[in-house]
Amino acid sequence: MALIVQKYGGSSVADAEKIKNVARRIAQAKDKGDQVVVVVSAMGDTTDKLIELAGQVSNQPSDRELDLLLSTGEIVACTLLAMALKALGYEAISLSGAQAGIRTDAVYSRARIQKVDPERVISELDKGNIVIVAGFQGITDEMDITTLGRGGSDTTAVALAASLGAEACQIYTDVEGVYTADPHLASEAQRLPEIGYDEMLELATYGAKVVHPRAVELGELFNIPILVASSFTNNPGTLIHGGASMEVRNKVRGVAYDLDVAKITVVGVPDRPGIAASIFEPLAKANISIDTIVQNASINNITDLSFTVAKSQLDRAMEVVKPIARSIGARECVSDARLGKVSIIGTGMQNTPGFAAKMFGTLSERGINIQLITTSEIRITCIIDEARVKDAVHALHRAFELEIEE
Ligand code: ASP
Ligand code: MG
Repeated sequence: MALIVQKYGGSSVADAEKIKNVARRIAQAKDKGDQVVVVVSAMGDTTDKLIELAGQVSNQPSDRELDLLLSTGEIVACTLLAMALKALGYEAISLSGAQAGIRTDAVYSRARIQKVDPERVISELDKGNIVIVAGFQGITDEMDITTLGRGGSDTTAVALAASLGAEACQIYTDVEGVYTADPHLASEAQRLPEIGYDEMLELATYGAKVVHPRAVELGELFNIPILVASSFTNNPGTLIHGGASMEVRNKVRGVAYDLDVAKITVVGVPDRPGIAASIFEPLAKANISIDTIVQNASINNITDLSFTVAKSQLDRAMEVVKPIARSIGARECVSDARLGKVSIIGTGMQNTPGFAAKMFGTLSERGINIQLITTSEIRITCIIDEARVKDAVHALHRAFELEIEE
């Protein structure tokens, strides 16, 4: 008898019929004789609706209240799912994140799981129950309810799988798995039967929405294979694991994109020690996440410094940076909110020349101007005009022959 953890996303439980469909799928897993723990997200766009509602009663809802409010979305879904399973004649129990022993730090709206106390889940499994856990939430030492950040139910699932020593973690969603590019944008994209943790982490961090990067990170840390598949079909999906073959013929595995990019450039910055710290420390204090940072070679001890932030954080970032730019004697501070990024990813790129040249050449053939470039060992990212991102994804997909099945 194996123990498996399944996770169902919001679109898989968006209405009563879909909840009943998910209950039937869980019942099938149970019928195989396995112990089953299920993590569920809030129904459909419940979380967005709750955030909107909070915004209607307050300009600045308190983080603590907001987290408690948002946690109700997952609780609704998990109770209904337990009821649907009981209606099918199965023993099931729903547990909030707190009841399931998900312990977090006290950073509201993006709490991190510090440990999982799995005793309650284990005792319910031992009684023969299917255990349905509300995703995306946990409890602090002070008994306050926290949430893990948008999309956090994936992380709940992998954390539970790790703490229970589960054989597998299966993430069910509304797409057929992980693709070589976003299948909604590029119909030529191919499903990847398997992918390594590192590649998946880069894909997820650089725009692929199919699984949360923190969940992939945890999977790698605890060596939990993660299956990503559709809750609406019985197709095989994509297995994320450590043994995925590195030397695949086509060395780029996927193209990711992200339209949420804004750039700030501080022009004419004096080049001396402490300047970067004087700009980025206050940004960190203001809780603004910086993505790419590029500093030019200086001429006559004057340089330009560019960095990117999420579009929603641009105004706040400019408010922080403008006075600093003035105080350090920079010439000006300019921004561009209409950017996006496109990345190629694959472990096969490591130590192999030519990928960057081919990427830049492909973009230039399409007349796409590259504003900033960043790389890791297995990724190359170009920041470009947001209006050209879709075109870039298609062109790169073709250039690296990703439409050809492996
Ligand atoms: N319901 C939360 C969200 O929409 C968490 C999740 O779906 O994983 O972000
Ligand atoms: Mg969701």
